[in-house]
Amino acid sequence: MTDDLSGGPRPKGRSARDLERYAGLFASRTRVMKSSAMRDLMALTERPEVISLAGGLPDTSTFPAEDFAAIMAKVAVDSSAAALQYGPTEGLGRVKDVIAHVMAAEGTKVDTGDVLVTTGGQQVIDLVCKTLLDPGDVVVAEAPTYPGAIPSFCAYQADVVQVEMDDDGMRIDVLEETLERLDREGRTPKFIYTIPSFQNPAGVTMSLERRKRLVEIAHARELLVLEDNPYGLLRYEGEPLPTLRTLDGGEFVIYLGTFSKILSAGLRLGWAVAPGPVLQKMNLGKQGADLCSSSLTQYFVAQYFAEGRWEPYLAQLKQLYRRRRDVMLDALAEHFPAEATWTRPQGGLFVWATLPDAIDTTDLLVRALTRNVAFVPGRGAFMDGRGGASMRINFSGVPDDDIREGVRRIGEVVAEQLELFGSISGTRPAGGGKRPQAEQRRDEAGMADVLRLPRRRANG
Ligand code: PMP
Repeated sequence: MTDDLSGGPRPKGRSARDLERYAGLFASRTRVMKSSAMRDLMALTERPEVISLAGGLPDTSTFPAEDFAAIMAKVAVDSSAAALQYGPTEGLGRVKDVIAHVMAAEGTKVDTGDVLVTTGGQQVIDLVCKTLLDPGDVVVAEAPTYPGAIPSFCAYQADVVQVEMDDDGMRIDVLEETLERLDREGRTPKFIYTIPSFQNPAGVTMSLERRKRLVEIAHARELLVLEDNPYGLLRYEGEPLPTLRTLDGGEFVIYLGTFSKILSAGLRLGWAVAPGPVLQKMNLGKQGADLCSSSLTQYFVAQYFAEGRWEPYLAQLKQLYRRRRDVMLDALAEHFPAEATWTRPQGGLFVWATLPDAIDTTDLLVRALTRNVAFVPGRGAFMDGRGGASMRINFSGVPDDDIREGVRRIGEVVAEQLELFGSISGTRPAGGGKRPQAEQRRDEAGMADVLRLPRRRANG
């Protein structure tokens, strides 16, 4: 029980009256604030009986507990007082050196003076918005985009314009058309947000040609690009591609990196590399947000990298995730209907699957949860209600058997929905939803690479 201002005790919990009491106090931006589809799902999927293909979780169970204990013990013995103390807003020098080393592994050279250590890569998105956006400003993002960026875009009241993708990432021809249209409307985007490698949620990678073109456009128009790159080092096949930051040379690209997917998400450490004046404003924004990122976890990172075992650990993660990706692709071929398509990522953590139009994945999730399986419905990756027939499914955070069983259960609810749709409309899709073996093989040979863009719903 809590006390209310009129004196009497009142039961805890949200009621319409509670909302009324506080509504007048909120800033106008709270009216457009939005929750991320993934965060909403986390509460539901924490139940142990649920197989969650909804998260974007690295498999932290692979990190040896004895290494963790030894690193922490070393930090405690060598640097106890400093690790328990505040640190500089821009981050510890030793961690900035580590960041330069990690970026060099992807072929990107940076000066540690251009680095800001942040509380996860997520904070970079927030700080970039805080630094660049006034209400109504345009941000260009991919369609679909990272669902976790949407709460930041909304909180800073951005007008997000999403540019479609195909298997080679953002369609730069469509981007150019979009920029021209915005020119005609007298609007200049504040930045272009892209996840060029193993995109979240679509799993696709921007081709070299498009990377070059995007950087050329940024230079010609003096437009900032936020390159969000948590997955670049998690490549399972194919040739590495240069980062946009490398191609740009430090003029218009703000780079986002993170330790979350190559080491641990629980450390909550990421970083930004940005042109000096932009970095300075982001630093001011960070001072207001959290003064500095955790000194304790920065000491952990510095010690871990000093021991020189990060590359073998990364190699182990890549081997594991590659296998899980293959398990997922096989399971999809076995259990998803013939009309479904999905991407075949060369790295990262996600597959993006698109089902027949009759399926609405937001409704499907409700059914799937009754079978104790979860995914992220596609609409969570769009600002305008698109994505209704698509879903994001993760293969890094769950063991092989759970991937197989999870996909089987989703396939089962999809088949039931199609059956139901067929019996109502009398148009059961050809093939009874079963995927003939020959077709499965054709998909494996390349058809599954086709990213079927989610269709716009009839009403918008
Ligand atoms: N950007 C993208 C594309 C992501 O997928 C994530 C994590 N899911 C983040 C940023 C943020 O990650 P973190 O804050 O853990 O570094």
